[in-house]
Amino acid sequence: MKIVPISLPTPFYIGAVNVYVIKEDPITIIDTGPKTRAAVDALRAGLKQNGLTTGDIRRIVLTHAHEDHCGLARSLRDEAKDAEVFVHDWETGHRAGRLEHEDSLRLLMRAGVPEDELRTMRALYDEVRQYADSLEDDHCRALNDEDELEFETGALRVIHTPGHTPGSCSFIREADRTVIAGDCVLKRITPNPVISPDPIDSSRRFRSLAEYLVSLARVRSFAPTLVYGGHGEPIHDYEELFNRYLRAINDRQATVLRLLPKNGASAWEVSRLMFPDADDVHKFLAVSEAVAHLDQAHIEGKIALEMSDVREIYRPLVAN
Ligand SMILES: [Zn+2]
Ligand SMILES: [Zn+2]
Repeated sequence: MKIVPISLPTPFYIGAVNVYVIKEDPITIIDTGPKTRAAVDALRAGLKQNGLTTGDIRRIVLTHAHEDHCGLARSLRDEAKDAEVFVHDWETGHRAGRLEHEDSLRLLMRAGVPEDELRTMRALYDEVRQYADSLEDDHCRALNDEDELEFETGALRVIHTPGHTPGSCSFIREADRTVIAGDCVLKRITPNPVISPDPIDSSRRFRSLAEYLVSLARVRSFAPTLVYGGHGEPIHDYEELFNRYLRAINDRQATVLRLLPKNGASAWEVSRLMFPDADDVHKFLAVSEAVAHLDQAHIEGKIALEMSDVREIYRPLVAN
């Protein structure tokens, strides 16, 4: 069961995205790249080098539904005629477009994002949406934790690894403990836990960082020998990366706690203190980051959280 990585260009800040072709019946592609001419051309060239065309693809499996990973799923599905698309059910919100969802707007308002910034975020988001065709529910089959994707001579086991998004999945080939991890594990950067509604109760916020920490530990429990990420080079030393991530997450929490003003602040205000120079889409990523760390500190009993009008305000604990 041969896993072939193909790197595709994206118009995004993160740079190239990795997709993985499993060169064995049924021919399967894990992630697709964004819907751009350059990505399609690179994908066709990569497949050709392996004696394949898009028409040979039988299964399209998505690690998660961000545009750089799922953008071409719809057109590949159409081109490959009877190819099936697999994605975790908890990605529905992403598939349908995050900020078009009233729920997501409400979450951003609760996080204290001002009206004009919400409008800008929405406009930026509409721009990003052009890089993906949306998938209808009846186009997709659900990936479930512990499912097996079977091949002629082996299988990939589905591991639900929520955090970066609620429905993020990884795939393990147990024979040699190789993991394909999407944006759950990236060599050079700690993935951003993107602000999302809770997939079970959309009026609540998804506890992205708490879930993410569990996912990182779950991947570790397989003692992977090789991890293929959604961006950048493969990881040979997961243990080192795991410890580095934990340190980075702890350091970030310490920064957030240090920046939190005595009289409290919204996640938006904290994000502006953390990343004063962030602009465009980075303001959205910054507020996601702030929410994730503030929620985690709150879950750990280190700070208080209260509602003030429509905004949530985080406060340092007062000593009795
Ligand atoms: Zn992503
Ligand atoms: Zn990505």
